[in-house]
Amino acid sequence: MSNLLIRNVRPNAGEATDILVRDGKIAAFGKGLAADGVAVEDGSGHIVISGLIEAHTHLDKSVWGMPWHVNAKTATLRERIDFEREKRLEIGIDPHRQSMRQAIMLSANGASHIRSHVDIDTTHGLRLMEGIIETRQALKDVIDIEIVAFPQSGLVTRPGTVELLDQALSNGAEVLGGIDPCGIDRDPKGHLDAIFGLAEKHGKPIDIHLHEQGELGAFSMEMMFERIRALGMQGKVAISHAFALGAPDYLRVGGLIEQIAELDIRIVTTGSPSSTVPSILRLKDAGVKVAAGCDGIRDTWGPWGQPDMMDRARILGMKNGLRRDVDLEHALYVCSKGGADVMDIEGYGLEVGCDADFTLLTGETLAHAVVDVAPRPLVVKRGRVVARNGVAEVAIP
Ligand SMILES: [Zn+2]
Repeated sequence: MSNLLIRNVRPNAGEATDILVRDGKIAAFGKGLAADGVAVEDGSGHIVISGLIEAHTHLDKSVWGMPWHVNAKTATLRERIDFEREKRLEIGIDPHRQSMRQAIMLSANGASHIRSHVDIDTTHGLRLMEGIIETRQALKDVIDIEIVAFPQSGLVTRPGTVELLDQALSNGAEVLGGIDPCGIDRDPKGHLDAIFGLAEKHGKPIDIHLHEQGELGAFSMEMMFERIRALGMQGKVAISHAFALGAPDYLRVGGLIEQIAELDIRIVTTGSPSSTVPSILRLKDAGVKVAAGCDGIRDTWGPWGQPDMMDRARILGMKNGLRRDVDLEHALYVCSKGGADVMDIEGYGLEVGCDADFTLLTGETLAHAVVDVAPRPLVVKRGRVVARNGVAEVAIP
């Protein structure tokens, strides 16, 4: 645990102050605080906010830093899934090395926490997750990593997967994933009963990928609502993507959002440029907790994305058609405090007593910071400086 004094920073773009950190926690704010023998950093009047939260990514998938992956496929979702599962080791996507690269870059760009879905399937067993657990241990002083056991290849259609998920939840995964109950397993009842049954057995939350659009996605959501009510799992379920909430039928979507708010279901959005997406302002008005993530970056699925939650805030802003400063501030909120709300992160915040996880940002205001493409001047994790000017203190393998 570390002690640190950062001089001349502006919390959430407000008045300049100093921040004193003791034992990895924020101990005091104030102008001209006594250094008292602790290390001092100059914040140069930059904005400071709590750590950015990457709430939806896949640390086991990126080819970042490897030879360029030539994508020559015109593939369906199912074909992309099958290609990745069968070719990933042949291509050389080592889950430990690649997750180290991505997690360190996320940290250098101001993130303090990651929720990563990790593939669990009958081809690889728990091997991919073991690589991420190794990374989590190696980076325990740099960034916190939460693992979602993710049955990307399906579970009803791939016997043995449920047993592997069961093991994953006993061996390091904090959250249970799922995927398109109609589209992948083509058996929504079978898929959801298996997922909810396992989550209940382990007392773990669920975060399900739902790419299904329009009425099909709405149908899957309604089947989830029934199970959340029956099992009393309010506040324990997140829906990632939730593309069905981007459908044009305003009243139909409103009815779904009403139930999502009532059941305290969390929404995780990537602002996917290639799909209909939920409106972050409409969800805000309904009081729904919303987080954001970069999803897979530069992988066998596609070449896009950066390991940077400020980049994601800009994508959210553009995809949601945001222009007003107050709305840009909300895009940043979704990429920071919103993620902490969705993941139930304890000790998160820029207040005395909170963990000293924060990042400096360039810009005059928070809205300016969102659009300003510039490295983070300083990133601090539990009171330790982990990156300066976009460069991590720890080496990238
Ligand atoms: Zn995903």
